[in-house]
Amino acid sequence: MILLDHASVIELLPMAECIELMAGVLAALARGDATLPLRTVLRVPERDAAIAMMPALLRGNADADAGVIGIKAITVYPGNRGTAYESHQGAVLLFEAEQGRLLAIADASTVTAVRTAAVSGVATRLLARADAGDLALLGAGVQAATHLEAMRLVRPLRRVRAWSRSPEKTRSFAERMTARFGVEVEPMATAREAVAGADIICTVTSAREPVLMGDWLADGAHVNAVGSSTPAARELDSAAVVRARLYVDRRESTLAESGDFLVPLREGLVTEAHIVAELGDVLVGRAPGRGSPDEVTLFKSLGLAVEDAAAARHLHARALATGKGLHVHLGGAREE
Ligand code: NDP
Repeated sequence: MILLDHASVIELLPMAECIELMAGVLAALARGDATLPLRTVLRVPERDAAIAMMPALLRGNADADAGVIGIKAITVYPGNRGTAYESHQGAVLLFEAEQGRLLAIADASTVTAVRTAAVSGVATRLLARADAGDLALLGAGVQAATHLEAMRLVRPLRRVRAWSRSPEKTRSFAERMTARFGVEVEPMATAREAVAGADIICTVTSAREPVLMGDWLADGAHVNAVGSSTPAARELDSAAVVRARLYVDRRESTLAESGDFLVPLREGLVTEAHIVAELGDVLVGRAPGRGSPDEVTLFKSLGLAVEDAAAARHLHARALATGKGLHVHLGGAREE
């Protein structure tokens, strides 16, 4: 069994590789080669927090290859923002599906940071205009940083603006990202100023009430809505959802978990038919992507266990190939 810490995940799961990996697993899901239940969420109301359990089976591609099972256990403590701890912590466990052996345990904070932005990268590559180069980030935390990294890889960025609720954190984020990526990140005083005229907008906040309004969106914009994942919380107002052609990571999850979609649904402003397709359907050619340069496209990301399982499978293979990670005998082998 191989233990993969933060540094190992960063080294063995570069963003560019992860984008291809996520395109592959979302296509596999669309073809029926992966299965997953809805995640189980245990709330910790005293801390306004939760722990989510996310299992998935990725089938192998030959009779001799039973595939893998992944399960991520991750705590979500939004109140950790500004402390020494990240708001998402936990582990991704990877098993082989032939005999159920545990193969690897990887740091879920890092896997989640990278794979979520990589999925948004896949969505942006499929749905944003080819000449989209003006990026707005709403939020200045972990996901904002990895989303900047992913967006740079799928579109040549001309301009990057960032906004978060605290001007001080926005400024500090802009300085760090400018130094890290060599692209100037402009700190903005309001979300509206950050998104005015933007081609690509990533909402990556822990907000429960809308931070992005539909009437701020320029024609032709593409939005990755990443932050909210419960039926009552949303980052987008109803007008933004109504106005956009909506793509999702998974219909079933959207109908169960997405306040961004469920609030306008409950208001009677959209029906379930408003969901154009899952990303995987577009990837396998079963559904159309952007239809015209003027339309607004929206990808609602909830995060899927298949993404974590695919990342862990990749990490395990790379760790075997490179000798990286900590190799330990945990148990599970008969002793007689
Ligand atoms: P961080 O804690 O690192 O950052 C949170 C960001 O949200 C900060 O910029 C913070 O502002 C901002 N924020 C918090 N509360 C509010 C509010 N009420 N109004 C406006 N902004 C607010 O979190 P992450 O970057 O790790 O995650 C961001 C969001 O993405 C979370 O909601 C998380 O659950 C979600 N997520 C979604 C995934 C998916 O697969 N779809 C996967 C992982 C995370 P400030 O800078 O001022 O502190």
